[in-house]
Amino acid sequence: MKEITVIEPQFSTKFQCIGSACREHCCSGWRIALDKPTVNKYLKSKVIDIRVIANNSIDIIKKNHANWGIVKFNEAGNCAFMDDNRLCGIHAKLGANALSVTCATYPRATTSYKTSTLKSLTLSCPEATRLLLDSPDAMLLDEQKLLQSGFNKSPQEQNVNKLLNLMSMHLINASGTQVNHGLYAIALLLLFAKKQGSEVLNNSQEIESYFSTLIQDIESGEIKHKLDSIASNNQLQWSLLLRLQAYIDANPNTRGLRRLRHFVKRLLYIQVQNIDNNQVSENIVRLDNVWNVKVQPWLEEHPHVMQNYLLYRLYNDQFPQDSVRTPLSWLYLLTAEWYLIKSLIAATAELTGEINKDDVINIIYSFHAVTTHSPAATQAFFDEIDKVKVNDDISLIYLLK
Ligand code: SF4
Repeated sequence: MKEITVIEPQFSTKFQCIGSACREHCCSGWRIALDKPTVNKYLKSKVIDIRVIANNSIDIIKKNHANWGIVKFNEAGNCAFMDDNRLCGIHAKLGANALSVTCATYPRATTSYKTSTLKSLTLSCPEATRLLLDSPDAMLLDEQKLLQSGFNKSPQEQNVNKLLNLMSMHLINASGTQVNHGLYAIALLLLFAKKQGSEVLNNSQEIESYFSTLIQDIESGEIKHKLDSIASNNQLQWSLLLRLQAYIDANPNTRGLRRLRHFVKRLLYIQVQNIDNNQVSENIVRLDNVWNVKVQPWLEEHPHVMQNYLLYRLYNDQFPQDSVRTPLSWLYLLTAEWYLIKSLIAATAELTGEINKDDVINIIYSFHAVTTHSPAATQAFFDEIDKVKVNDDISLIYLLK
C-alpha cells in the first residue's frame, strides 16, 4: 500500500450545497456538458419525464467521451432538468448516482500529485465564497494520511514550487489586513529565488534566511516603507482596470456576468468621470482614498476576508504553478485580479456609502464564475497585462501602491 497525503482547507470540509436558497444557482446560465454514459442513461430512462426532457433538450455534440452532450436552457435560462422549486429533477427522480460527473462533484475541485491530493472548492459557487470569507479558520489546512493501492497517476510536485508556495502563504499571513505588503514581499522572494536559479534548494539556508528577513520586514513596517517610497503610476493602474473591464464587458453571456457587470458599471462610472485632457490620476486617487477611508476600517473588523481570499488563491492555483510562464508572471496575474476586485469593492463603497460582506461575496463569486472556468479568460488577462506593463513583470508593484 502507498501513503497519500490529503490536504483540504477547513471551509471546503464544511461545504454543503444550499440548493434552492442559492443566490445564483449553478444550473442557471452555464452550458452543462454531459459525458457519454450519462447522455445515454437519460435518453433511455424508464422515467418518462426524464426521457422526454433528454430527447428535447440535450444537444448531442460527441466532442469526446466527457463532452458527449450539452443540456439546453429552458425559457427561464435554467438547466432543462431543473424543476419549479429550483431543484434538480435528475436528483429527485433518479437519485444522486444518476448525476453526471460535473453535476455530482461541482463545486469540489481536486489537484493530484504523485504522493498528495489537494482538495478545494471553486469560488464560482457563492456558498463556497461565503464560507471562505466568513471564518478566520477557513483556510486552515487539514492534513490526513490515506493508504491506497498505488500512487496517484500524476507527476510528483516540484520541491522548489512547494517551498515557494508555503513561504508565499506565510508572507500573506504575516501581512494581516495589508495584503499588498504580503504580495510585495512575495515579489521580492521570487526575485531572490530567480537569482539563485537551480541552486535555490541546494542553498536552502539562504532562501530561508531571506524569507525570515521578509517576515521581519513586514512586521517592522519596512516593507510598507519600501512600497511608500516607490512613485505611483496611476496611468498604468487606470489602463489595466479599463482593459480588464472591457474584456469582462465583451464576454458572451454566462453565469455570473450580469452580477459582475453591475459592479463593473459602478467602477467605470468613477473611472471615466472628468477624464478630459487625460487626467486619470484623480479618479485612481479617489478609489485609493475610498479604500483607505471606507474599506480598510471595515477590513480591520473582518481581518480574515482579503487574507483568506489570497491564501485561497495561492493554495488553489498551486502558485507558482509548473508551467511555461514564470513565477513572477503568475504573481502579476494574481496581483492584477486582486487589484480589480479591490477596485470593484472600493467603487461600490463610494457609490453606496457602505461596504458589507454580501457585496464582497457577490463581487468575488461572480468574478470567478465569469473567469475561472475559461482558459481563454486567463490568456486574455495575461494579454491585457502585457499591453500595459512597463519593462517587465516587476511593474506589478505599481498595483500594490
Ligand atoms: S452554486 Fe453552489 S450552493 Fe449554489 S446550487 Fe450550485 S453547488 Fe449549490
